[in-house]
Amino acid sequence: MAEETIFSKIIRKEIPSEIAYQDDLVTAFRDINPQAPTHILIVPNKVIPTVSDVSCEDEAALGRMFSVAARLAEEEGLSGDGYRLIVNCRDHGGQEVYHLHMHLLGGRPLGPMLARRQ
Ligand code: AMP
Repeated sequence: MAEETIFSKIIRKEIPSEIAYQDDLVTAFRDINPQAPTHILIVPNKVIPTVSDVSCEDEAALGRMFSVAARLAEEEGLSGDGYRLIVNCRDHGGQEVYHLHMHLLGGRPLGPMLARRQ
């Protein structure tokens, strides 16, 4: 059984957060340290630590994450100009919280995908 993180407490509403969407498979809430005018995290309700831990039985939740991202992007007024979805994985990906999550970022031009090498 994978270890819980603070995100499980958010999903169960045991600690405060600004929840934007919740259903039986996924929860979406605003990032506490927003990097863009819209910065929402979309997470499976089940603890899946990283992308490397995904299995076939998680496909419904992962698919739902995308449909919820599209729905929230529309609600946030991002669909026309576009937005970015990011999933970080482990150390080199810069993952800080080991409960798989998708960042939905938008509301301004987001620049290049990666910091350029010097
Ligand atoms: P990552 O670096 O991809 O693991 O992203 C983790 C994200 O979780 C960061 O953007 C944090 O700002 C965000 N975060 C951490 N704790 C909370 C919290 N309690 N509520 C909302 N967002 C959080």
